[in-house]
Amino acid sequence: MLLRTVDWNDACACANSWAPWKADRLAPHGSKRRKPVLKLTIFKRLIISYLVIIVLVMASGIYIMVRLNDLNGTIRSMNSVDVQTIRLAGEIAQAVYIQTGFEKKYLISGDRDYRTQFLKMNRHLDQKLTELDNLAVSREMKVLAAKLRASHERYRVMFDGITSAADPTAALRNRDEIITGIEAATRRIAQSADKARNDKLQSLEITSVQVLNAITLSEIAAVLLVLLISFLITRSINSPIRLLQEKTKMTAKGEFGRPLDIASPPEIRELAESFNEMCSRLKELDQMKIDFISHLSHELRTPLTAIKEASSMLMEGVYARSPEKQQELFDIVNGECERLIRSVGRILDLSRMESGMAEFNFEEAEMGPVIEKVAAKLAPIAQRKDIKVYLNLSDGVQPVRMDEEKIEHVIENLLGNALKFTPEEGEISVSLSENDECKRIEVAVSDTGCGIPEESLLEIFEKFKRVDDRKGSVRGSGLGLAIAKHIIKAHGGTIWAESEPGKGSTFIFSLPLSAASS
Ligand code: ADP
Repeated sequence: MLLRTVDWNDACACANSWAPWKADRLAPHGSKRRKPVLKLTIFKRLIISYLVIIVLVMASGIYIMVRLNDLNGTIRSMNSVDVQTIRLAGEIAQAVYIQTGFEKKYLISGDRDYRTQFLKMNRHLDQKLTELDNLAVSREMKVLAAKLRASHERYRVMFDGITSAADPTAALRNRDEIITGIEAATRRIAQSADKARNDKLQSLEITSVQVLNAITLSEIAAVLLVLLISFLITRSINSPIRLLQEKTKMTAKGEFGRPLDIASPPEIRELAESFNEMCSRLKELDQMKIDFISHLSHELRTPLTAIKEASSMLMEGVYARSPEKQQELFDIVNGECERLIRSVGRILDLSRMESGMAEFNFEEAEMGPVIEKVAAKLAPIAQRKDIKVYLNLSDGVQPVRMDEEKIEHVIENLLGNALKFTPEEGEISVSLSENDECKRIEVAVSDTGCGIPEESLLEIFEKFKRVDDRKGSVRGSGLGLAIAKHIIKAHGGTIWAESEPGKGSTFIFSLPLSAASS
């Protein structure tokens, strides 16, 4: 049974070196739960804060306006009711006093003019009493006004009685009592109005203190609120910026540490995410540089050591008398030099492809002859290991648009790997077929070699990646499949591997049929 098929696009996505970091960022610091976060932007925070302050100031303003209006109403009522009532009470008392004068003069002289004056005063007093009735708002005042009117009515009735009575002395019996009642009533009215005025003055004092307190309190609250809001907003912006600043300093020193975990405000969170991405990329580049130098030094040191050893032996004349042994040493020097040149060439190829500088010479060509050419080239290796190589090339496979030299390089790498990892007397087959449905051609190289574990099927397409446990046993740079991946991708194709460890592997690449042929 074959292991799962791997699509290169998937492989790219999965092998993307960003993925682990992204996962880390999405669930920072393991299972640690995040604090609930205020997701408001700085702008919204400012607007809300200013609205709170405006509402507070408006509320206190409305309260103060209402209280000032009350004050105004009280003052108006003092002026128009209490002061007027006191004045009226005085005027009525004065008028009654004058009226009693006319009454007495009339009784003594019998002059009808005094009677007329008396009656005129009646009309005047009627008018004043009506004014007093209108001003009486409280129940007490209404009762007092009614009593005053009734007493004066009695006085008038008494006067009418005197003028028409046969015995005026008898009619005058209640006069003093009535006049005293009228005077007492006007006094009580004046006192009551005075008391009401004093009460209002007292309430004015209380209200004005309350208004003053409200103004002071609202001012203090507004100032405190402004300070608090400014402090909170500044702190919510300042502390993440300080974190960013520290992280930038650390990054500048080459210390990457953990990704920044800034949850709020959103503007700074986005900035931190971009910064984390930049750090992750820098870290990746740093690691790539370290890997590259270590692989490169390994790649160069191994052949250089072999060359140095062989040339030293030749110079020291260790095998001076054995031309066959000398020839062997020359072969080693030559072989290792070729390996060096190949390695450097591959590194250059890969760096050109990665930087997008590799040039491709696309032409319509048939795949079959390319496969046959590579198979012929590597036939000596197959013979040396007694490996049977079968070519299953379907007839009538349409030509495709390709850079023949580069595709030859890919097939040579796949077939070379198959020969490298297949033990002696094994079997390799290279097949070419056309998939009409998908409008693609497929080239598959299968071997009966050691196979590849499932977890390595994706990563072997990354540069310098080799299956770990075989590192020492079979030499290689770990660049071949990475280069093949770039070449196939540049052709709009896909490459993937299938394998059953211990039984063999199959490397497949597909290329699109060109528009003209499809
Ligand atoms: P190299 O072969 O130079 O090390 P490659 O990029 O061509 O580099 O291959 C990467 C790794 O993939 C190899 O080191 C090997 O571990 C694994 N590999 C490639 N082809 C095969 C194969 N046919 N059988 C088993 N393992 C393979």
